[in-house]
Amino acid sequence: MTKGTIGVTTENIFPVIKKFLYSDHEIFLRELVSNAVDATQKLRTLSSCGEFKGELGELDVRVTIDTKAGTLTVSDSGIGMTAEDVDRYINQIAFSGAEEFLSKYKENANSIIGHFGLGFYSAFMVSKKVEINSLSYKEGAEAVRWSCDGSPEYSMEKGDRATRGTDIILYIDDDSKEFLEQARIDALLKKYCRFLPVRVISGKEQEWKDGKMVDTDRDKVVNATGPQWMKKPSELTDDDYRKFYHELYPGQDDPLFWIHLNVDYPFTLTGILYFPKIKNEFEVTKNRIQLYCNQVYVTDSVEGVVPEFMMLLQGVIDSPDIPLNVSRSYLQSDANVKKISSYITKKVSQRLEELFKSDRKNYEEKWNDIRIFIEYGMLTDEKFCDAAMKFALVEDTEHHFYTLEEYKTLTEPNQTDKDKTLVYLYTTDPIGQYNYIKAANDHGYSVLLLDGRLDSHFVSMLEQKNEHLRLVRVDSDVVDNLIRKENEHKVELSETQRTILTTLFSSQVPEVEKSTFVVSFSALTAADQPIVVTQNEYSRRMKDMAALQPGMAFFGEMPDSYNLVVNTGADIIKKITEVSTAALADAIKPYEETIANNNKQVSDIRAKSKDGKLSPEDEQQCKDLEAAITEARTKQEDAIKAYAATVPQVRQLIDIALLGNGLLKGKDLSAFIARSVELIKL
Ligand code: ADP
Repeated sequence: MTKGTIGVTTENIFPVIKKFLYSDHEIFLRELVSNAVDATQKLRTLSSCGEFKGELGELDVRVTIDTKAGTLTVSDSGIGMTAEDVDRYINQIAFSGAEEFLSKYKENANSIIGHFGLGFYSAFMVSKKVEINSLSYKEGAEAVRWSCDGSPEYSMEKGDRATRGTDIILYIDDDSKEFLEQARIDALLKKYCRFLPVRVISGKEQEWKDGKMVDTDRDKVVNATGPQWMKKPSELTDDDYRKFYHELYPGQDDPLFWIHLNVDYPFTLTGILYFPKIKNEFEVTKNRIQLYCNQVYVTDSVEGVVPEFMMLLQGVIDSPDIPLNVSRSYLQSDANVKKISSYITKKVSQRLEELFKSDRKNYEEKWNDIRIFIEYGMLTDEKFCDAAMKFALVEDTEHHFYTLEEYKTLTEPNQTDKDKTLVYLYTTDPIGQYNYIKAANDHGYSVLLLDGRLDSHFVSMLEQKNEHLRLVRVDSDVVDNLIRKENEHKVELSETQRTILTTLFSSQVPEVEKSTFVVSFSALTAADQPIVVTQNEYSRRMKDMAALQPGMAFFGEMPDSYNLVVNTGADIIKKITEVSTAALADAIKPYEETIANNNKQVSDIRAKSKDGKLSPEDEQQCKDLEAAITEARTKQEDAIKAYAATVPQVRQLIDIALLGNGLLKGKDLSAFIARSVELIKL
């Protein structure tokens, strides 16, 4: 028997392994089982190239618990190791710069283990003693037994293993007893080993007998050795893809689409990505893409490996070329990873384009499920955005779908304004904004349905990408002004009429919570509504955006400012103008004269002075004149207000407009109803 010290330059690697690698203890099983699988695969390779001539026999990897002895054993029938092999691969760990490295990465177990080929040593995280019992495949080889109790000393002697292969026997630590429970081991094997290429057996199949589950004598195989992503797409049917999806994520709806990834050069990568039917956010965070390295599960946090927007996808990516055990920041700067990430992006866009082209109807049907993904991608990934221009769709209120190019062609003739800007109209609420949609449709305009969660950002992005494109919500102005054309109708009101109508209407607007109204005029057609409530596109967007931003929420609390647009082209407004002007003419005439006279006097006085300075007397006179103007204005307004109260039709028209926007509520709504009954009396 020989004794020796393990060849690491750091005196005590084991305390480090035990102490710092705490959080990731369970990965020891992944490491040992993958070593066993590797040894088995190597033997297969040697056999197929004729270097190993013996019988392969059964090649299963077994994970066995012996509760009495307190051991967990991983056995394989792979190539095994001779004493020299053990010395070279186990005793002499290449561990240059270990100290520096350990201090740098002590937080991250994975970095140490993968980076320095310490896979085997991770066994010490959970064991007080580890034994290797191995017999090499080489002709005439002698069995070897190696043992180490966690100090840097090991012992090596002749072993007693009679058949080719290796047992790794872990004497489980008292504080790691959980790894002696079959259920815990089952769960770990399922997590890390379910797609390994060699059969892994642990425990027995169970069956229901006499009121409880009992072991049968059939071995329990934990893995599917030929996972779907390793197969050729031509070998798989749609059902196979769906079945595999449900295996990965039980209890989900069928996936919408999938993409089979398969590349050999300049890096190796296989996998299947699925577009899920997202039902809620919880599922997005729970069912994530799983990353494998040669069929060994590594992680389901794939940040950095796939672009952020693809985190919404599900499925499997398997690549030996992703440096798995390094920090995220390193990962993101790694050239291979960058290539992989852009390869995946390219593949996903190609597949979407292909799906769109080959079966547009199907694609359109699924659009509402995938648009969040595509819009998110377009907003966050420049390259994807360019590619997606071919297959991103917009939907109008009639539920027709268009590509952005098609929509441009469709709307250009009728929706280009006098400044040559193309205007897309959209709604965020097809029921609430129905009136406006109808008005726009009656004008021959198309209205887009943009009620998705990312649409406010999507709208800004479209505008940024297209200099001559503007998007406005249908209720942001009266229909004539949404897209301003050359032949605009002029509002034909005299100064006096304007004064009368402004006060007439503004004095009758009810108090609406968190809303302010400004009266303006527009000459629409007789067929248009007499009064239209609109909300300025720009300030509404500011408010919407602010509401989404933490810390800016107070913006969202600000009142909504609406325009109450009086349509001077409507018959009833014409009539009201006529009647009110006639009724008020005499009453307001003196005030108008006072205002006009005083204004003239003030400007005459000011014109007199050369340097803009007035004498104290002139100064005082101007002040008096201006005070008189204010007084006249107030009185004039009072006269109009008093008159307005006698014309219920004014309030009625305003209420109808508010009602159309869901702004008429409570007391005002019941007053409206009562007034309506009053007004329709015969
Ligand atoms: P890595 O697997 O990253 O090389 P390990 O510390 O896990 O690092 O293993 C070191 C070496 O020991 C392996 O490369 C292999 O040559 C050998 N080895 C480990 N386990 C086995 C096994 N079950 N059968 C044969 N050789 C093994």
